[in-house]
Amino acid sequence: MNIREEFIVYESPVRFHENRIRAAAVYCSDGRFGEHVDDFLHNALKLPRYDRLAVPGGAACLAGHLFAYREEWGLVEQLHFLIRTHALERLVLIAHQDCAFYAEQMRVSSLPLETRQREDLQTAAERIRSFAPGLLVDVFFARKHLDSTIRFESLAEWLLNEASHSTRPGR
Ligand SMILES: [Zn+2]
Repeated sequence: MNIREEFIVYESPVRFHENRIRAAAVYCSDGRFGEHVDDFLHNALKLPRYDRLAVPGGAACLAGHLFAYREEWGLVEQLHFLIRTHALERLVLIAHQDCAFYAEQMRVSSLPLETRQREDLQTAAERIRSFAPGLLVDVFFARKHLDSTIRFESLAEWLLNEASHSTRPGR
């Protein structure tokens, strides 16, 4: 291939690494959270160069909502592709506070928004495990704090906590 120097508009200082790390993340397209998601995946989970599936609402469409069946079909296809061709071993699902996908699509809901999101993430994770049983699936919730930080909460920890509360005597 001919290199046409005159067409180059920018050279990224970030070096390219050939190896895949066999991990992917599904999260919302909302660009306000993009750098925080990168920071979390890179520095907390130690997953550099993870594959990205950024779609409105993240994995919410995998929770079986009728209004999102087209998105669901598309995301399942994309996951199958990455699992197969990139040999994925780990998948991270992240929902974020005040997600516009929910505000837009689910105006009428009997559940508080965050409860809905947490339940959807669990359902989505179970759905993925059903067609990719060898895949490690982790779920997280990104919350905004008053000091403009974003903190990531483990949904698995939250569920364990809920379970221990609900089985506590006298409740
Ligand atoms: Zn969102």
